[in-house]
Amino acid sequence: MSVLYTCEICGKECEGHPNSRYCSECRGKVIRSTHKESLAKRRAKRQTKASEVAKPMTLGQIAAKARSLHMSYGEFVAKYGL
Ligand SMILES: [Zn+2]
Repeated sequence: MSVLYTCEICGKECEGHPNSRYCSECRGKVIRSTHKESLAKRRAKRQTKASEVAKPMTLGQIAAKARSLHMSYGEFVAKYGL
């Protein structure tokens, strides 16, 4: 059964399913834009994760690194600004 409805985006009168909210043209755009949005969100999430992985070294790691360079922890921090 199809009924007349008005597209919520462009206001065009269309005939279709009673639950339809957008004309076929706008529906395509809406689906594309939500798809793009979720992609961007997913990408942003991944970036957050990546930066968490690249977090600065732990105190123990810094101390070990300083030792390997024959520096004290204080010297190492002063030089590399950690
Ligand atoms: Zn429309």
